[in-house]
Amino acid sequence: MNFDVTIVGAGPVGLSFARALSDTSLNIAIIDRQTSKSLANPPEDGREIALTHLSKKILTSFGIWQEIDQNEISLIKEAKVINGASPYSLHFNHQDTSENTLGHLIPNRLVRAAAYKVAKESKAIKIITGVGVDSFNIDANKAEIKLSNKEIIHCSLMIAADGRLSGSRRSMGIPSEVKDFGKTVIVCKMEHEKPHSNIAYECFHYGRTLAVLPMVGNYSSIVITISSDQADAIMKMKDQTFNQDIQTRFNSRLGDMMIVGKKYSYPLFASHASHFHANRFALIGDASVGMHPVTAHGFNLGLRGSKTLATVIEEALSNKLDFASVEILSKYNQKHQRSTRPLYYGTNLLVDLYNSERLTAKVLRRLALRFGNNFWPVKKLIMGQLTEVQ
Ligand SMILES: Cc1cc2nc3c(=O)[nH]c(=O)nc-3n(C[C@H](O)[C@H](O)[C@H](O)COP(=O)(O)OP(=O)(O)OC[C@H]3O[C@@H](n4cnc5c(N)ncnc54)[C@H](O)[C@@H]3O)c2cc1C
Repeated sequence: MNFDVTIVGAGPVGLSFARALSDTSLNIAIIDRQTSKSLANPPEDGREIALTHLSKKILTSFGIWQEIDQNEISLIKEAKVINGASPYSLHFNHQDTSENTLGHLIPNRLVRAAAYKVAKESKAIKIITGVGVDSFNIDANKAEIKLSNKEIIHCSLMIAADGRLSGSRRSMGIPSEVKDFGKTVIVCKMEHEKPHSNIAYECFHYGRTLAVLPMVGNYSSIVITISSDQADAIMKMKDQTFNQDIQTRFNSRLGDMMIVGKKYSYPLFASHASHFHANRFALIGDASVGMHPVTAHGFNLGLRGSKTLATVIEEALSNKLDFASVEILSKYNQKHQRSTRPLYYGTNLLVDLYNSERLTAKVLRRLALRFGNNFWPVKKLIMGQLTEVQ
């Protein structure tokens, strides 16, 4: 099989990137181990994705946003960051911006289903499902990819969108810094007695964090990060005990709380590749940068990177240059590294600061909240980073 571009991984980023390229003259293949059935109708995974204004704009330009049931999109109007048991919070309000919301919260399975539908309908994209990559070889002029069903793909450019543990990245010998927090993220949906008023909370309790994110109706997405040795106990906790525990930790702000459905757990580590490109090869999405979910930037950054790479490729095509050459792809690398590095290191620093039991860290985080609240340029900077209002 011959294609101009082959994308390994039909996750939300791989599919969005395929769509971004589909307006060019290139023909694109996207391959995934999952079946077409599970890509078309992804199972519930407990993830609610907070999307910035820039991401909404990008997804709208791809026609993906329009495929998401608008009744399932919740608005985040305010956000509060709370330190320990203190009633004081760092407070962000959409009224301080020109937008009617700080961001949007959408079930991950709906984003994935919409991206799949749009890619499937494009004539420029061939989706090959139920197969993985066995091996690949890249020389000066082409990439050759051997699939697990023994078929071979020849292409000019191979894109790795195969997630945080990217096997393609490893096979290419691209080093990646991995930060293992020794923690686990537990997510679930809870119904509550009182309305959330579209306020998102991030509570940094000692040794664990609790995020309560407003979903549609009297429901919230609960995100707990906890030391991995204590995660099992929470996963196995009886519903009644769990409800009481979360309600107490959240100071009954939302009244009685009840879990709806299952809890889901994810090991917590972040990763950042040293570079995102090689000759005829590029990394996108979590394969390039895997973020700690506390600042909700993983998919947002993946979309931004997809847009950057697609623009670089489009420019090369219109200048009749080799779009898969290392010189062209290095432009993507430089531009996207400038976006990812400050967010990646800033997020990890924040997580360390708010998880540390050291006295200096405790004092610093109290100061940080007050400084953030009272010093408008800092607050504006954080808000700009979180919401990506353009
Ligand atoms: C609890 C939690 C909450 C989150 N909240 C947010 C949030 O609020 N906002 C936000 O922006 N982000 C959030 N994220 C991050 C977001 O979910 C990820 O950034 C996003 O899923 C990355 O998409 P991706 O397409 O790069 O990778 P993945 O979603 O990991 O997809 C990779 C795909 O590659 C396929 N694959 C892998 N290897 C192969 C192979 N060898 N051959 C073929 N196919 C292969 C897999 O089957 C999969 O379909 C959250 C993550 C978690 C865990």
